[in-house]
Amino acid sequence: MGTENLNRPNYPLRPAATPFAAQQGTTPFGSSGPVVGSEASAFRPAPPASSQFQRPPLSSGPFVGSEPTSFRPPPSIRPNDLVRPPPPSLSSSYGPPASGFPSSPAPPPPSIGQVPPPRTSLTGQPVAPPLTRPPPGQVPLTQPQPPSVPMGSPPQSLKMGQPNPNIPLRPDQQFPPARPNAQPSAPLPGPPYPTARGTYQPAFPGYPNAQPSSVAQAPPMQPASFPLQQGGFAPAAPPAPFLGRQRGPVSGILPSGLYPGNQVQQHGITPPIAPSQALAEDFSSLSLGSVPGSFETGLDVAALPRPLDGDVDPKPLAEMYPMNCSSRVLRLTTSGIPNSQSLASRWHLPVGAVVCPLAEFPFGEEVPVINFATTGIIRCRRCRTYVNPYITFTDSGRKWKCNICSLLNDVPGDYFAHVDASGRRADLDQRPELTKGSVEFIAPAEYMVRPPMPPLYFFLIDVSISAVRSGMLEIVAQTIKSCLDSLPGAPRTQIGFITYDSTIHFYNMKSSLMQPQMMVVSDLDDIFVPLPDDLLVNLSESRGVVDAFLDSLPSMFQDNMNVESAFGPALKAAFMVMSQLGGKLLIFQNSLPSLGVGRLRLRGDDIRAYGTDKEHTLRVPEDPFYKQMAADFTKYQIAVNVYAFSDKYTDIASLGTLAKYTGGQVYYYPSFQSSVHSDKLRHELSRDLTRETAWEAVMRIRCGKGVRFTSYHGNFMLRSTDLLALPAVDCDKAYAAQLSLEETLLTTQTVYFQVALLYTSSSGERRIRVHTAAAPVVADLGEMYRLADTGAIISLFSRLAIEKTLSSKLEDSRNAVQLRIVKALREYRNLYAVQHRLSGRLIYPESLKFLPLYGLALCKSAALRGGYSDVQLDDRCAAGYTMMALPVKSLLKFLYPNLVRVDEFLVQGEEFDITRRIPLTAESLDTRGLYILDDGFRFVIWFGRSILPDIARNLLGEDFTGDFSKVKLSLRDNEMSRKLMTILDQFRATDPAYYQLCHLVRQGEQPREGFFLLTHLVEDQIGGANGYADWMLLLFRQVQQNA
Ligand SMILES: [Zn+2]
Repeated sequence: MGTENLNRPNYPLRPAATPFAAQQGTTPFGSSGPVVGSEASAFRPAPPASSQFQRPPLSSGPFVGSEPTSFRPPPSIRPNDLVRPPPPSLSSSYGPPASGFPSSPAPPPPSIGQVPPPRTSLTGQPVAPPLTRPPPGQVPLTQPQPPSVPMGSPPQSLKMGQPNPNIPLRPDQQFPPARPNAQPSAPLPGPPYPTARGTYQPAFPGYPNAQPSSVAQAPPMQPASFPLQQGGFAPAAPPAPFLGRQRGPVSGILPSGLYPGNQVQQHGITPPIAPSQALAEDFSSLSLGSVPGSFETGLDVAALPRPLDGDVDPKPLAEMYPMNCSSRVLRLTTSGIPNSQSLASRWHLPVGAVVCPLAEFPFGEEVPVINFATTGIIRCRRCRTYVNPYITFTDSGRKWKCNICSLLNDVPGDYFAHVDASGRRADLDQRPELTKGSVEFIAPAEYMVRPPMPPLYFFLIDVSISAVRSGMLEIVAQTIKSCLDSLPGAPRTQIGFITYDSTIHFYNMKSSLMQPQMMVVSDLDDIFVPLPDDLLVNLSESRGVVDAFLDSLPSMFQDNMNVESAFGPALKAAFMVMSQLGGKLLIFQNSLPSLGVGRLRLRGDDIRAYGTDKEHTLRVPEDPFYKQMAADFTKYQIAVNVYAFSDKYTDIASLGTLAKYTGGQVYYYPSFQSSVHSDKLRHELSRDLTRETAWEAVMRIRCGKGVRFTSYHGNFMLRSTDLLALPAVDCDKAYAAQLSLEETLLTTQTVYFQVALLYTSSSGERRIRVHTAAAPVVADLGEMYRLADTGAIISLFSRLAIEKTLSSKLEDSRNAVQLRIVKALREYRNLYAVQHRLSGRLIYPESLKFLPLYGLALCKSAALRGGYSDVQLDDRCAAGYTMMALPVKSLLKFLYPNLVRVDEFLVQGEEFDITRRIPLTAESLDTRGLYILDDGFRFVIWFGRSILPDIARNLLGEDFTGDFSKVKLSLRDNEMSRKLMTILDQFRATDPAYYQLCHLVRQGEQPREGFFLLTHLVEDQIGGANGYADWMLLLFRQVQQNA
């Protein structure tokens, strides 16, 4: 593996060696995940073009060059010198296999390398300083600030020493749009990606990298229910309430380039309204004062739009195209695909999609599984699109026309069915692939280069003193043991363990043993794997040994005084053991890696870096070791989940890299104490171990001619220009992508998307989950707005903004969010400028009514808010890694948490409605009340100062007067307590991906209240950041500017 790029700190950028290097340094916001193949010579680009349009050979063996055909472990020597071969004989540092269960070797004296952290955090407690705002209940909601500074100047900062998040933007701070030309449309030349060994999965067989552009797109054939009108797309039934607002032609006051009545729309310049088509002005607006320029009055805070119903699934597209896959799987930032690049650029918001390929479906709506058996999976022979509801049959059913590239394909004899005059196949009712937007095909041997791997779980567990003392080790051992019966894939499931402190401990789990044998390797510079065959075992066969190991693990190390962490060498050891098969690596790390390769220095946070061009370096890994290991892991189908627990700085920025590029996930439990956090760890680890998982997966999103996904955002590694490598993927992961128009003008009226995830199921089948959707092409900016999906936009925004924090200042990232919103609203206002030019109203499409608030919440999220003192660096990085992977609904809830009042319900008897949410502002809090805030990751239970003593006593007993940081909410034997616990369970049931631990907060008790509750009241002014009302006024002023 080459190293020329590994020191590059800004890891989301593509390295210069790639063919896509053009954007480097110029598009901090448009960058996508790294391209594996471009990183280093060890990775190979996509398969040669010559194989594109051919069926892969019908052989079950690998087709990678002349590599061995059998499925066998790789040689222990690889070109990659990260991995050294075992020495001819075991070194003396490796103790003889013990018959019993030897204890850990005597720890070396504590290293002087362990330096105290720069800042200590209280156990489970916030270290953020108290917020500067006074206690709630005493402060009126932030008053709108008069525009005391001219537009274009920074508004007043409300917190000394903090960068103000709302400084208007310079042009160079904005997010560049998706790069339409950043990547070649032709396939990469060169040999297939995998070469290191024959057992490795090559690029998705039969997946070409480009579609020929010579084929004209046929007009859409479906659906008839979506009439296309002269002048572009128009809704079938314009919303009635706004019909009265149609405008006739006006003159003289429209922005230049806008000509009412002009029917010619090919250039993306559309009239504000089509006179005859009556495009409804379905915008919403907010009155900001009756006199232009006067903002102090007229803003009705109560009227501000709030997503109190949570995320509402986008409806229009599903209604237009009922055969589309569910919005659980695919959400477009706008369902109206712009017909021209100029139209796309006028929209200012990202055009793209958020994909959750394994989203869970409710009972009864499961994805149908289809086995074509001998027929083979029906795919377009040119663009490799899978058969789907939008293909059409012609020639009496003997041919089918690809909806993506329009090619006429032959229908295989086995698949033939008669079609009636309308083109409907006689067997349509038995063909879910022709009626359902989501199906799963069982893949034949040609989709395999090796037998489907078994589910494999490997655990790398820190057993140093802090891991033991925090109780982490015990909880982890217990939880793993409790999940053994539920791990997917029995009886093929494989399992293995390595523990480490200053040395590395391997465990022989051979089924013939009564007890595992521990082998200690202390030579960290020359890692080798003793007994490589017996470290990974079949769980069913070795269950007794595994049980014995997990039972004794906590006690084995209970007296361990070792403070060191040979994490990097242990990671390499785990790689060597796992690389034969791939699988999931779960890392439990309790301290900063201190020994051997990958040791991290206590660089910590640095207040001096904030606001400078060095700021982002704190948030990216310093040691290229981590990124390089991540690349190796992905290459060998290993997904890494990082569980981090330290009460000190652990450099989550570096550790999280392992998860980021392997399709994994970061779980962060700062200052873990089992007495406090055990439920959360137990639940989340159980979920991680038992949820359905797709193994050795790759994902590609195809789309119709003229449009292309040009950047991808999330936790994965790009294997070629558009193939996402996902060693493991599950229902809790989503990926975002930006779409670009490749042509100046789209001539089609519909664009189709097809997501294909090729993976190995836990049961050992190779499968392809295919989701297909259609969306209309529109020529009208108003339609793009009408069909916008705020949830998808915010999901993309979040990922872009977080990526930007890895190459820019936090402030720049926030400003970029703000600027995009302002530009979008300004453009929208221009559409209706005539009517509302003087009205003093901020107008926005109904579809985007929550965009400003979510944008504000995003800027106030842990990943982006404030500066040095506002969020611990590790917290910030962990939040960033987590948000990059969240599905839309979870992200929106994280940004704008649920807040509900429960005391009345506890006292009275009625049914509790968990959807009865209230605005996230201190104004909502009654001092007599009891409230629950739920962001999907934690509950905050707020006790008002004047709460009925009865409630407090029933819920907490005598603990109510105690220190809330030590009080644990538990079920008590009374009705109120039972009711409260039921509510919490209801909330938890809505999204089981994470477990919400309860944090009790007493009104006015700082810093606890500030950290847990007030930072989440996103409508309030917090630190230097605006409250909702101020934010809207700020946006309004900026929208007005040059309007
Ligand atoms: Zn095709």
